[in-house]
Amino acid sequence: MSKIKKVGIMGGTFDPIHFGHLVTAEAARTQFQLDKVIFTPTGKPPHKKGYSVTPAEHRYLMTMLAINDNPFFEISRMEIDRPGLTYTVDTLESFYKELGEDVKLFFISGADAVLDILTWKDVDRVLSYCTFIAATRPGYPMDKLNEKISELKRMYGWEVYPMKVTGMDISSTDIRRRVREGLSVRYLLPKSVETYIQKNNLYR
Ligand code: ATP
Ligand code: MG
Repeated sequence: MSKIKKVGIMGGTFDPIHFGHLVTAEAARTQFQLDKVIFTPTGKPPHKKGYSVTPAEHRYLMTMLAINDNPFFEISRMEIDRPGLTYTVDTLESFYKELGEDVKLFFISGADAVLDILTWKDVDRVLSYCTFIAATRPGYPMDKLNEKISELKRMYGWEVYPMKVTGMDISSTDIRRRVREGLSVRYLLPKSVETYIQKNNLYR
């Protein structure tokens, strides 16, 4: 008899990856007793964010550098290799089929991203493939997150699990701005990623 494995999927644009993402994935791993977390950089996000997303290979390599020293973290090319726009439901379906019945999937997202993801496409299927975790994030403390989760439950019957994460007021948007303006990004993201950004002249 094989034991059920618990696998977390950490989705994101990771443009670039930073300590907010890493601390969130590690919190999910420990709080939900996950066997591992698979970082899955987005291919083409369906909603334009008002800026052009950095080519996927750069985002993939930065993510790889960032997770390198954590034996419980892995990375998947699934979304960046899939043609067309990226929908979380397709990703979860692929992981579900690929990993088999002995694996229980957990999708990890930040509080700000819950509605985005759940309103993208096929919510019911998204929730049928995984346990959906929403992490606190500065601007979204536990009480605000719980309110949002109860509302989702009341209005749509959706089950989302809240998770408390050590607050890190870091965003990729802010890091891109700092690089553009020549400000320091040290201690906001791993040194290896900072060096990669410099060497490849990203966000200038
Ligand atoms: P951008 O500013 O470009 O939107 P971001 O910092 O929000 O970037 P994303 O790649 O959009 O990063 O986020 C991927 C996932 O990680 C999302 O679910 C998001 O909510 C979560 N996340 C990002 N930053 C943090 C943070 N500082 N604390 C907790 N969760 C975070
Ligand atoms: Mg974001």
